[in-house]
Amino acid sequence: MSDYAIARRRMVEEQVVARGVGDRRVIDAMLRVPRHLFVPEALAAQAYSDFPLPIGERQTISQPYMVGVMSEALQLTGGEKVLEIGTGSGYQAAVLALLARQVFSLERIPALARQARRILDACGFARVNVRVTDGTFGWEDEAPFDGIIVTAGAPSIPQSYRTQLAVGGRLVIPVGDRVSQVLMRVTRVSERDFREERLFGCRFVPLIGNHGWSEE
Ligand code: SAH
Repeated sequence: MSDYAIARRRMVEEQVVARGVGDRRVIDAMLRVPRHLFVPEALAAQAYSDFPLPIGERQTISQPYMVGVMSEALQLTGGEKVLEIGTGSGYQAAVLALLARQVFSLERIPALARQARRILDACGFARVNVRVTDGTFGWEDEAPFDGIIVTAGAPSIPQSYRTQLAVGGRLVIPVGDRVSQVLMRVTRVSERDFREERLFGCRFVPLIGNHGWSEE
């Protein structure tokens, strides 16, 4: 096993499984995706550490544990169509690609989307669809989605996400102020009814856009 594979195994055991993520498919996906390739080369040695890392453009790749918890919260079994808001490094999208049938991911910063596209292709995740746009409108042409995951903190839940959720589908989104949020899971239980759960506190970079925060 390479040093990276050893570090990855430790990361999954000590940061993800030990803290309660039990979904075998999520665990296997995180064991497979080479996270060190999704961070800037100079930070590769820290890729399996227990914190977010800068990826340029003042954005971050989420802490491994957060990727594990959010992926598990989507309750995917393999046949789903999933939308991610905030492609960033592309790492979460790669994990989702191993958990669902189709992955669509939106990123507002072109340079990040380009870099994510490159690395997703290089790692065999060419079927992840990445588009550059304000993701607070969702991806109407591809809706409905069985899962929607927002990897940036929102001031409130954009209506488009509820509308674009399939009945039975799950939306996982951090909601709060610019620096700290509560991770929420919204399940569309019927055409008209949504169940909302507050999972735990978290800190994400802001969701910036029409139905998010304004640019500073
Ligand atoms: N899921 C990413 C985490 C990236 S951090 C990963 O695995 O690396 C959050 C990302 O959301 C940033 O890249 C930021 O540019 C992006 N973002 C913020 N607001 C957005 C919006 N309205 N639409 C699309 N992307 C947005």
